[in-house]
Amino acid sequence: QSKKEGRNRYCWFDPAMEVEARLRREMESAIRKGLENGEFSPHYEQQIDLETGKLVGFEMLARWNSPEMGTVSPEIFIPVAESCGLIGPLSQSLIASALRDAQSWDPSLTLSVNISSMQLRDPWFPQKLLKLLLSSDFPAARLDVEISESCLHENLTAVQTMIVSLKNIGVRVSLDDFGTGFASLAQLRTLPFDRVKIDRSFVGELRRVAEAASDGTGADDQQEHIVNTLVSLGRGLQIPVTAEGIEDTSILDTLRTMGEMKGQGYLYGKPEDAAAVLKRLTELDMLAERAAPINDDEQ
Ligand code: C2E
Ligand code: MG
Ligand code: MG
Ligand code: MG
Repeated sequence: QSKKEGRNRYCWFDPAMEVEARLRREMESAIRKGLENGEFSPHYEQQIDLETGKLVGFEMLARWNSPEMGTVSPEIFIPVAESCGLIGPLSQSLIASALRDAQSWDPSLTLSVNISSMQLRDPWFPQKLLKLLLSSDFPAARLDVEISESCLHENLTAVQTMIVSLKNIGVRVSLDDFGTGFASLAQLRTLPFDRVKIDRSFVGELRRVAEAASDGTGADDQQEHIVNTLVSLGRGLQIPVTAEGIEDTSILDTLRTMGEMKGQGYLYGKPEDAAAVLKRLTELDMLAERAAPINDDEQ
């Protein structure tokens, strides 16, 4: 009995916890250093109008190219940056780079950025964003701010106020990871989102639906119903829909039976850096018009 209590008392010094805490501190200082050394860069994933197949914009996804660890996923470093208070500076520097990159894109193209729950709680965030927009001379209407559904379990009134403030500076606001979180119908109705993005965990399942249909087993179409329901939910609320995680044409074909929407996913390409985007846009003839060519001036 007393032996057991003794052990419990010492669980404060659990070596696994010590190691975890140390790793965390190390990663924190690596993030701080990486931020100074420009190791973080925006990558871009294409967004397509599924009806026309045309490129309509890009979603910026953060990448960390660490000299020690190689390419680190945002799923790892964003939570650490949040917990050590670096998410603000990190995100602002990434958004600033993205706005600069997007200046060379055709003005029809939009830019989507993800923000974290901590930024959502910063009452100055819309002001900071506006400052970035003004200093890069990027029209607010071309910027789309994505808020994950997982943020909606927090103070809903605060989230609502934030969405309204963001819309007041002229940007659009999308609900990301739709279907995975806690949003109730009632909440969705009160939150003025401009778009919902159906999470790729549902969209990806559509491939199995297509496979089942083609091998004649007529397997269950539950997954298709789920995606259809999420699409209809958006439609019912009169909010446009984006499907993410489109990995092959069978998924695309199924989605296209569900009506008008935008989409993105590996079918169109993996997220790529600014230079690769420029190359793509050159091929598509979708670069921003620069100053008039020299011969024009001479004539
Ligand atoms: P998200 O915003 O839902 O982004 C979608 C994720 O799915 C991205 O992962 C993207 O690369 C991946 N993806 C896109 N299409 C496909 C597909 O067809 N198949 C598969 N298997 N995956 C696909 P990534 O880039 O690792 O980003 C993960 C999450 O990290 C993002 O989820 C977003 O919530 C967060 N994140 C990324 N950049 C930032 C940032 O700058 N700030 C904040 N706060 N969060 C960020
Ligand atoms: Mg997103
Ligand atoms: Mg998403
Ligand atoms: Mg997601």
